[in-house]
Amino acid sequence: MRTLVVDHPLVTHKLTALRDVASDTATFRSLTAELVTLLAYEATREIRVQPTSVTTPVGVARGVKLARPVPLIVPVLRAGIGMLDGMTRLLPMADVGFVGLRRDEESLMAETYANRLPSDLTDRDTFVLDPMLATGGTLATVISMLMDRGAASVTAICLLAAPEGLRRVEETFAGDAGSGEEAGVRVVVVTAAVDERLNERGYIVPGLGDAGDRLFGTI
Ligand code: URA
Repeated sequence: MRTLVVDHPLVTHKLTALRDVASDTATFRSLTAELVTLLAYEATREIRVQPTSVTTPVGVARGVKLARPVPLIVPVLRAGIGMLDGMTRLLPMADVGFVGLRRDEESLMAETYANRLPSDLTDRDTFVLDPMLATGGTLATVISMLMDRGAASVTAICLLAAPEGLRRVEETFAGDAGSGEEAGVRVVVVTAAVDERLNERGYIVPGLGDAGDRLFGTI
């Protein structure tokens, strides 16, 4: 697994405004979309393409087009939905699948309550959208679901990550990393920043609070 922290000044500028407790829902939503589009630009650096040519008004130019099957975007319910718009702006041709996970209060394990994923992801680049990589339990589960279906690559786009969550995802796939790499599965986490730590309630510090609540309100 590889972690890419996008330390572009525009990304940090937007992230700083996003963290601000004074940013209202409308501002938070539009900043999230802009930030995701910037992160997606880096996250798609190794996306699969195939050569093509195109006729211009004065000749023929060589170029590339996205390989088939088209990429799959997977927002994790609920907060990941707030990242979908910014992602599809860059990849309007991608398919979109959905997963929802909740923590089982007894086992403390992530439990899947919604799953709209294709059963076969052979040769597909997949992009998971989850704003906060906190404990890493949810992301590790979603990455496993995509790998089990044969995804060619899994790239998670997170606005923020905690060191604890990154470690957990790294450790989860350390055993598989060999077989994953051998099997050609690339796992990458792309984020705007790695924060200090998790607090006792599992929130990222300093973070930005509850991303789902800030995007969609407290319900
Ligand atoms: N989920 C959130 O929305 N915020 C955090 O800080 C951690 C998990």
